[in-house]
Amino acid sequence: MLIDSIGKSFRKTIIAGNWKMNKTPSEAKALIEEIAPLVKDAKCEVVCCVPYVDLATAIEAAKDTNIKIGAENCHWAESGAFTGEISTAMLKEIGVEYVVIGHSERRQYFGETDETVNKRTKAALAAGLKAIVCVGELLWERECNITKEVIARQIKLDLWDVSVEELKNVVIAYEPVWAIGTGKTATAEQAEEVCEFIRVCLNGLYGLEAAQGVTIQYGGSMNENNAAELLMKPNVDGGLIGGASLVAEKFASVVGATDFDY
Ligand code: PEP
Repeated sequence: MLIDSIGKSFRKTIIAGNWKMNKTPSEAKALIEEIAPLVKDAKCEVVCCVPYVDLATAIEAAKDTNIKIGAENCHWAESGAFTGEISTAMLKEIGVEYVVIGHSERRQYFGETDETVNKRTKAALAAGLKAIVCVGELLWERECNITKEVIARQIKLDLWDVSVEELKNVVIAYEPVWAIGTGKTATAEQAEEVCEFIRVCLNGLYGLEAAQGVTIQYGGSMNENNAAELLMKPNVDGGLIGGASLVAEKFASVVGATDFDY
């Protein structure tokens, strides 16, 4: 197989919480303070992606810890008449390091398309943010056996015009839409099959060395019970965690599941 497992030990493992529309600023402070001691010896990068209004508080609470803070979206324009939107410069200035782009809830409820995902991704990368770009098939698409076509299309369009240099700041989150917030996790084999396929797509677009370096996360009902099995797969380099990221012990336990010799 072209994509072997050797690269895994060189790639950055990243566990990122996606808090969605949960937690007020004071609750965010409390949760970060609860998580911090539990993950202080983490063997992976630990990220909490939080609502816009929580960012400043979360950044302050995460100061002097190993937790990085991310936003859940950003706009592509530098500034202007985009009521309700937030620019990458605004995020950068307050110390945000990561940004989730193209989450399926944005695609489903807010009209996000591969074109806008691509614009946001390019803006994030140009600003020096790390972009967690989400891709994943709908249940119906999986049932119609077109998962790979869907993923290949998303990878190509979402990363259109992203350079090989910029790719170093891209994390891909494979999130089968049918597994998000449903309690239905993809099996470790299903997750590995698609994550490996994503790397094959990246190899086609950027070459083997670049493809081997990209962190590919799995997301979709990952929790303290199933994380270890998923994370041990050769091409699953981390997780994007929704529900379980809101409970300090559960999130810390997913972080702890990255601590194994590969
Ligand atoms: C997510 O929001 O990206 C997610 C994977 O949610 P959950 O873990 O709750 O399925």
